[in-house]
Amino acid sequence: MRPQEASRVKEIQLSAIRVAAQLAEDLAKQGQKVIDLSRGQPDFDTPLNIKEAAKRALDAGKVHYVNNFGIIELRQALARKVSRENGFAVKPEEIMVTVGAVEALAVALMAFVDPGDEVLIVEPSWVNYPSIVRLCGGVPVYVSLAANDGFSLLPERVRQKISSRTKAVMYTSPNNPTGTVLPLPVLKELAEISKAQNLMVLADEVYEKIVYDGFQHISMAALPGMKERTITVNAFSKTYSMTGWRLGYLAADQSLMPSLIRVHQNLVTSANSIAQWAALEAVTGPQQCVTEMVAEFTQRRNFLIQAFADLSPLRLTLPEGAFYGFVDVRGLNMTSMEAVEFFIKKARVAVVAGDAFGPSGSGYIRFSFASSMANLEEAVEKMRQAINARG
Ligand code: PLP
Repeated sequence: MRPQEASRVKEIQLSAIRVAAQLAEDLAKQGQKVIDLSRGQPDFDTPLNIKEAAKRALDAGKVHYVNNFGIIELRQALARKVSRENGFAVKPEEIMVTVGAVEALAVALMAFVDPGDEVLIVEPSWVNYPSIVRLCGGVPVYVSLAANDGFSLLPERVRQKISSRTKAVMYTSPNNPTGTVLPLPVLKELAEISKAQNLMVLADEVYEKIVYDGFQHISMAALPGMKERTITVNAFSKTYSMTGWRLGYLAADQSLMPSLIRVHQNLVTSANSIAQWAALEAVTGPQQCVTEMVAEFTQRRNFLIQAFADLSPLRLTLPEGAFYGFVDVRGLNMTSMEAVEFFIKKARVAVVAGDAFGPSGSGYIRFSFASSMANLEEAVEKMRQAINARG
C-alpha cells in the first residue's frame, strides 16, 4: 500500500505557471519554436560584481552554517536599506534572511496562523498564495481587486470579508499578475482596517524597484502604527535577477522575531551562506544594474502599451509596476484557458491563464515581458496574425 497523502496537501496543485512552461518545453522538444512568456523571472544574468562576491566567499571557505537569522553583515546592510528606502526604521535584529520570498511568507504564516484562521488574499495574486496559506493550516479567503476599475483595491471589499476568524491580510504591490501599484490612500485605509480589526499584514514587496511612469511603491510598515503588525517580505530574486540563488528576507518588529525565528530555524536552519555574501554585495554595491534593468523593462512596457493599443479585441491592463502584461481576452469569446491553448497552438506563444491567479483573473491571460524586445515583437506579431486568421 502506498503512503496516504496528507490532507493538507490534497487541495494543493502544482503552479499553473509550471504547467504552461512545460507545454512550451514539450513543443520546443518537438522542434517547434515557442516564445515562452509564461515565466516570471528577469531574463538578465546576475550582475558580475555579485557573482564575484559569491566566488570570493567560496574561496574564503564561507561554507558552514551561519547565524539562523542570517549573517550580521547582510542584516546590518538590509536594516540600513530598509530604513533609508522603505521609510520605516529597523534594526539588524528585525531582519531575517530567508530562502527566497516564499520562505518568508511561509514562516510568517506558520508562526502566526492557527488551524482554521482565515487569511485574506488580495487577488489576482501570485499563484502560490492560497497553497502556502493552506499548507500553513490557514483558510484562504479572496478579496477581489476591481477588474472593471483597473484592478484597484476597494477597501470596502476587505471589510466585507472580515470574520471573527480573520487573522491576516496578504497582498503584493506592485502586483503579480496585474502590474498595479497600491496608492497611498488605499494603503492608509487598509492600515486603518488592520488596526481596527487587529489583523497582521503580509506586505510582499518583491517588485518594489520595478515601477513605471512616476508610480511610487510605498511600504505598509511605514504608515503610522503599522510596523508592529506588518511583516514586510522581500527578495533578491527580482531586483538583482537572482531567482536561482533562492534568497529573500523579511523585516518585522522585534516583538515578532522570536516566533518567526523558531519556525525558520526548525525548517531551514539558515539560508545559503554563499548566496548571503553575494547578496551583501548586491545591496551595498553599485545599483546601476537595477537602474539598467528597470530602464530595459520600461522600454518593453512602452512598446507593449503601443502594440496592444492596436491589437483589438485584446485589452492590456496598464502595467504600473512589475513585468507582466495582464490581458483581457473576453473579446475573443474565449475563457482564459482557451486563450492559452489558442496562443500556444496558433501563435506558438506561451502565456498563463489569468484565472490561475484567482477568480477575478477569469477572462484574462498573463504574459511576462521579462523577455527580449525581439521576442516580444515577434510574439505580438504572431498573436496578431493568429487573431486575424480567426476571421
Ligand atoms: N512573491 C511574488 C509576488 C512573486 O511573484 C514571486 C515569484 O514569482 C515570489 C514571491 C517568490 O519569490 P522568491 O523566488 O524570492 O521566493
